[in-house]
Amino acid sequence: MSKSFLIDTTLCTACRGCQVACKQWHDLPAEETVNRGSYQNPADLSFDTYKLVRMREGVIDGKLRWLFFPDQCRHCLEPPCEQTAGEPTAIFTNAATGAVIYTSNTRQLAAEEIIESCPYNIPRKAEDGTLAKCDMCNDRVENGLSPACVKACPTGAMNFGERDEILDLAQKHLATAKEKYPSAQLLDPDDVRAIYLVGFDPNLYYEHAVASAAKYGISRQAALRKMFRPIRGIVSHLG
Ligand code: SF4
Ligand code: SF4
Ligand code: SF4
Repeated sequence: MSKSFLIDTTLCTACRGCQVACKQWHDLPAEETVNRGSYQNPADLSFDTYKLVRMREGVIDGKLRWLFFPDQCRHCLEPPCEQTAGEPTAIFTNAATGAVIYTSNTRQLAAEEIIESCPYNIPRKAEDGTLAKCDMCNDRVENGLSPACVKACPTGAMNFGERDEILDLAQKHLATAKEKYPSAQLLDPDDVRAIYLVGFDPNLYYEHAVASAAKYGISRQAALRKMFRPIRGIVSHLG
């Protein structure tokens, strides 16, 4: 049985402990930033930032709300990025944990095709074309530890465990959240291993919070089937 996350955004205070823990565990450098009039920092995911607490504010039902979305790879059950690559030395799923792993061989792939295939806008490219993203802290998980971001979270927003247990936990958190947020919902729980719980319309948090069917003009499931279909020939130059 693979692992899964439950990321309950209704419990997130945007402390960014998860974001910092991710950097520390992976020994990733900080990034130079500028004041953009937002507490969100840095502005986006990058080759050196696998986890980013997105922050938006808006008036919902007459109340000013701050919406926090600790963004990361969803570790899809049928990853469009992996199927698009079609090259297991570059992108593969760890059978024991379900982690979708990128290696240095991703620099041999058609990077833009891989990035475009991700319904959640996750992979990021280095100057040499190598792709990077959250790896589920697979080294920690294989040694019986929880991911660094989960370990660091002080509020219970980040949860991790066996998939069946996380699916049960998600339903419990959803029932609790609905008492306060009637529109609360789980995002793509049947398709991903990082399951988000949001209190409001997910598009208010971030345009890629849920798998988008809009750009394909077809239903979400049909879009996912289309995205899961391997694109052949883009890795023919792999040695
Ligand atoms: Fe790949 Fe994107 Fe799914 Fe992560 S969220 S496994 S990068 S398709
Ligand atoms: Fe970062 Fe690990 Fe959390 Fe992924 S699971 S966001 S790599 S700390
Ligand atoms: Fe939110 Fe937990 Fe991350 Fe803090 S550590 S930003 S509470 S998910």
